Amino acid sequence: SGRLREGLVPSQANETLPAAAAAAAASEEDKGESKVLVCARCHSLRHYGRVKHPGAEHLLPDFDFVSAVGPRLASPSGARSLVLLLADASDFDGSFPRAVARLVAAAGEAHGADWKHGAPANLPRALLVVTKLDLLPTPSLSPDDVHAWAHARARAGAGGDLRLAGVHLVSAARGWGVHDLLDHVRELAGARGNVWAVGARNVGKSTLLNAIARCSGVAGQPTLTEAPVPGTTLDVIKVDGVLGAQAKLFDTPGLLHGHQLTSRLTSEEMKLVQVRKEMRPRTYRIKTGQSIHIGGLVRLDVEELTVGSIYVTVWASPLVPLHMGKTENASTMMKEHFGLQLQPPVGQKRVKELGEWVRKRYKVSGNSWDTNTKDIAIAGLGWFGIGLKGEAVLGLWTYDGVDVVSRSSLV
Ligand code: GDP
Repeated sequence: SGRLREGLVPSQANETLPAAAAAAAASEEDKGESKVLVCARCHSLRHYGRVKHPGAEHLLPDFDFVSAVGPRLASPSGARSLVLLLADASDFDGSFPRAVARLVAAAGEAHGADWKHGAPANLPRALLVVTKLDLLPTPSLSPDDVHAWAHARARAGAGGDLRLAGVHLVSAARGWGVHDLLDHVRELAGARGNVWAVGARNVGKSTLLNAIARCSGVAGQPTLTEAPVPGTTLDVIKVDGVLGAQAKLFDTPGLLHGHQLTSRLTSEEMKLVQVRKEMRPRTYRIKTGQSIHIGGLVRLDVEELTVGSIYVTVWASPLVPLHMGKTENASTMMKEHFGLQLQPPVGQKRVKELGEWVRKRYKVSGNSWDTNTKDIAIAGLGWFGIGLKGEAVLGLWTYDGVDVVSRSSLV
């Protein structure tokens, strides 16, 4: 489209390759690099080491990893495939690349019996990489608990028997866990493996790959070349010099997750929602008939309680205001304050644009006020931690199509 083309930066290049030529180029893969247009993302990544304008990413189409890379995962040549499944610690369920995880799980299930003798050589393996660990309140968390929690959430997200070769908790910003991850990737990739880094947009993939490259001793910026994968000539990037001479590391375009609230926000709204520093809890004690709003994005109603009150802790960007009040006033809040005092959305016009306001109900039970029993997580925003002694029926309102999950609590 015209809009997409604005995001393209011409290199010394010819034209974008038509499909047949791209396929031919792909078969030439190891003989040389084809010269093509470089998308804005690749260009920024190469020249600035990061994507310069996160808002502009919305103009880029989604990348279909399953059809573009899927067929290459079970390599008949015997070269090992390793998939790095990236998930953001501050939005695990929303950012987890579940379609790709399902693909890996399905490949494993198809080989079910062979596993008795270890993973078959040509079966894709996967590492779960939890990024931005520094955003969690790490002093009050046990790494072992986060590790086990992330593993369980990944399996839930894959909806099948996902066998992970390992789980890594990292912060590229702080350099935590990057060295161990690189060692493990090198070990699993072996001499000639193909490694694919996969994640939702903004998961921290570019930052992590740059940290990995620095850690591997690649001087300055890593060398990036477009990888000739059919149909994705503009998109998949080979990161040179990080693995051995013949093993290859590929960066794939950030996945567009329509179920993450962030995917519908303007860049101005995104700035309010994105968590940049260690998350701080905001806790309320609330009763039946009361509601908490997170900006004009989400509302939690306490509909029924078997006890007097419950504790609700909001984990979200501190730039998004919270409001607690009576549920009976909630529709007035939406009409009069969404888009104004309760931002995002920024501006009342945006409320309708975000979609239809819908409710899901959750039954939660627990036996302690001191520790949270359950989280209700909203993809692309954050989560409510619920602490109670007894049972509660909670109503969660947000825009239609935004994923909401109830999960065992993280903090
Ligand atoms: P990509 O779209 O997956 O390539 O994500 P980027 O690497 O561009 O990162 C998205 C945003 O997350 C940027 O604002 C980064 O500064 C931020 N970010 C990336 N890694 C970390 C991290 O380890 N910790 C924190 N706090 N922020 C990070």
